[in-house]
Order: sequence, then C-alpha cells, then structure tokens
Amino acid sequence: EKLSAASGYSDVTDSKSIGPLAVGRLTKCSHAFHLLCLLAMYCNGNKDGSLQCPSCKTIYGEKTGTQPQGKMEVLRFQMSLPGHEDCGTILIVYNIPHGIQGPEHPNPGKPFTARGFPRQCYLPDNAQGRKVLELLKVAWKRRLIFTVGTSSTTGETDTVVWNEIHHKTEMDRNVT
Ligand code: ZN
Repeated sequence: EKLSAASGYSDVTDSKSIGPLAVGRLTKCSHAFHLLCLLAMYCNGNKDGSLQCPSCKTIYGEKTGTQPQGKMEVLRFQMSLPGHEDCGTILIVYNIPHGIQGPEHPNPGKPFTARGFPRQCYLPDNAQGRKVLELLKVAWKRRLIFTVGTSSTTGETDTVVWNEIHHKTEMDRNVT
C-alpha cells in the first residue's frame, strides 16, 4: 500500500495501539513502512528479535534461521582451485541427518529427509577464502545455511535445502 493509505494489515494484527496510518523509518537504511506491516512481518517470521528490510535486505538485530541439527567440518589440502593456483583449498563438509520437523519448520511433527549429505564445498585457502569461512561458521551457528522446505531441483517437499547462501560445490570449473 502507499504510505498515505492505511496498512493492508490493519485487521490481521490485534494491536490497538498502532494506527493503520502510522509509519516508521528503519534506522540504518532509512526505508519507510507502515508500523503494522513491520509488525506483521515480524510475527510471520522467526520471532528471534531480528528484522530484515524487505527492500534492501539490511538486517536489524541478529538474524537466525531454522537449519536442523548437524555437523560442519573444515579440512585443508594442497590442491588448488581453478583461478586460485597460488594457494591450497579449504574443504567444508556439511552433514545433516534426516529427522522430525520442529515448531519452526513448515510441517511440525512430520519427518524431513536429508538428501546428498555429506555435502562438500570449496574455498580457496587465501585471505579472502578464510574470511568467507569465518562468516560461514557464524552463519552455521545461527542456523542459516540450510532450511527445511521444497527442493527446487527435485520438487520434493519436507527436505533439507540450501538457504540462499551460495556455495561452490564442485572442485572443478562448472561453467555450464
Ligand atoms: Zn532498507
């Protein structure tokens, strides 16, 4: 809705203290929204004390996800990745077993599958690659790397899928 019109969420939130025309501006990115729209967005999310600007993706607070229990292992070896012949390689191995969905997942109480694990990912073992590795460790701790949902490659529902953090999953070039 236009900010001059009422929030479309006027009747779905039962907050009486926020008017349908009340507008707030996010402090870091300055994007403006109806307060009721922000409230509805928060209530439909993880309710983890964080909010992400829908316009520019700036994160407020500490964003967490719904990644199931599992293991992240890091190994190093001498062989180089294409385009990074001057250094070795960092190998990340993710392992998540199948299990039962929690309240944070699409179908709580139902089983979920975990295909293709352990999944192997590659980074060049240089300053940039090591920086990305540290960021991925934080993302893993915050349960952001995988989620339970529908696979975009197979269409299978209730399965562990990547969650928008792109990884290199083949040692070789895969230009196709
Ligand atoms: Zn923004």
